[in-house]
Amino acid sequence: MKKLAIIGAGVSGLTVNRLLSDKYDVKVFERESVPGGLIRCKNVENSLFHICGGHVFNTNRADVMSFFEQVFNLERDFIKTERNSTVFFENGEVTNPERHSMFVHRTSWVDGVPYPIENHVYMLKKELQDAFIADLLKMQRSYHRRQPQNFEEFLRWNFGTTLYNLYFKPYNEKIWHRNLKKISIDWLQGKLPMPSCGQMLYNNFNHIKESDVVHDQFWYEREGGSQYLADKLAENADIQYNTDISLIERTKNGWKINDENFDLVVFCGNIKDIVNVLKIKDVEPFANDIEHLESHGTTSVFCEIDRNPYSWIYLPSDKYLAHRIICTGNFSAQNNRMKRLSATVEFTDYISQDDILANLSRMPLNPHYITHEYTKYTYPIQSSNTRAMISALKDTLAKKNFFMTGRFADWEYYNMDAAMGAAKDMVERFDI
Ligand SMILES: Cc1cc2nc3c(=O)[nH]c(=O)nc-3n(C[C@H](O)[C@H](O)[C@H](O)COP(=O)(O)OP(=O)(O)OC[C@H]3O[C@@H](n4cnc5c(N)ncnc54)[C@H](O)[C@@H]3O)c2cc1C
Repeated sequence: MKKLAIIGAGVSGLTVNRLLSDKYDVKVFERESVPGGLIRCKNVENSLFHICGGHVFNTNRADVMSFFEQVFNLERDFIKTERNSTVFFENGEVTNPERHSMFVHRTSWVDGVPYPIENHVYMLKKELQDAFIADLLKMQRSYHRRQPQNFEEFLRWNFGTTLYNLYFKPYNEKIWHRNLKKISIDWLQGKLPMPSCGQMLYNNFNHIKESDVVHDQFWYEREGGSQYLADKLAENADIQYNTDISLIERTKNGWKINDENFDLVVFCGNIKDIVNVLKIKDVEPFANDIEHLESHGTTSVFCEIDRNPYSWIYLPSDKYLAHRIICTGNFSAQNNRMKRLSATVEFTDYISQDDILANLSRMPLNPHYITHEYTKYTYPIQSSNTRAMISALKDTLAKKNFFMTGRFADWEYYNMDAAMGAAKDMVERFDI
């Protein structure tokens, strides 16, 4: 049997292992002491802390669902939940006197408008509804005439200036930490909902809660959160933990890793490491582009918050830097052993503990700090040439039996299902 090395025991590497372990003698190298990468969880105060995100599963791809069902017993080990997300407004933007959901936060009211906001404009105060209707009429007249060139134009032209200023701009600027005009549109298109004016009107008339997005409904583990998913995917795999692969040497017929020879390698780490890890001539023409790839990190703060019915809470307010609360305590009863509710408050990039505490004190639901984790690479940012550049590098290396897949190897905004799908596509495309 030929020997295959996989770098990284995240969702991508573990999927590749599952797909190829009958055909090759596979060994996985992982720098951490547990599998999972971004989907790792910790037990803190008997409750479950997702060190990054909340990690729920769903997919539109039948082949990925079928792979998932081969590994997991969905009925036994997972809960199927309807997403119940909300956008919090704190400045009286929501219709009075009938507040649709309300929380008293110290001296002010916080109103929740269900997600997606464009379906719930009927809940906003009259001036905002009038302005949204005027936007729709204007958008309808200019429909098809122009193609958005950047993220700002994409959002403004699809949802109108009123919703852009109220929610999309402040929320996305907190996430992306940059002027939305500077974000390339190519790679976001198709990943975001693009309802027509007619659909938005229909959804508002009929109070339709969700649009057709992949996480309207999701599967979540009954116990152990996404760490269960990682542990189960890793079952029976030959994984060498606590091993950071900093050099992969080219040999006459293959590759050498830590004095062990392999015929093939699948790299599921970060493309930014590839130049130093491989040190071969084929990579040199790509080095400059790789060095300039941009990304964001995430600071995830594990908190106890006031009980509420939500899964995700989106926070456009400029009173604090956090953009989202993931109420992981609501995902499964096993996740929450606190008096109130366990949740993760998310900040883009690094933020110090002092700043975290200062921000929490200004946030709704009275978050009490427990612990936090900073992850340097969470959101890859593509520019217009990123896909073509990485595809050319992958084709070059594939000729030498070196393959790449994963969120940071492909520099793609993959969810878990897309990471599994990309692993499958790679195996099929290169006939590995
Ligand atoms: C905030 C956030 C929320 C998210 N929420 C969801 C969600 O709800 N649902 C969903 O489906 N997806 C979600 N995702 C996406 C999901 O996290 C990714 O699709 C998935 O985890 C990517 O897995 P991966 O294996 O490609 O990468 P990673 O998880 O980064 O795995 C890479 C692994 O390789 C290891 N590694 C790297 N380099 C080396 C090396 N040189 N030597 C040894 N080991 C190495 C790392 O330690 C890591 O374990 C979210 C992502 C973020 C950032």
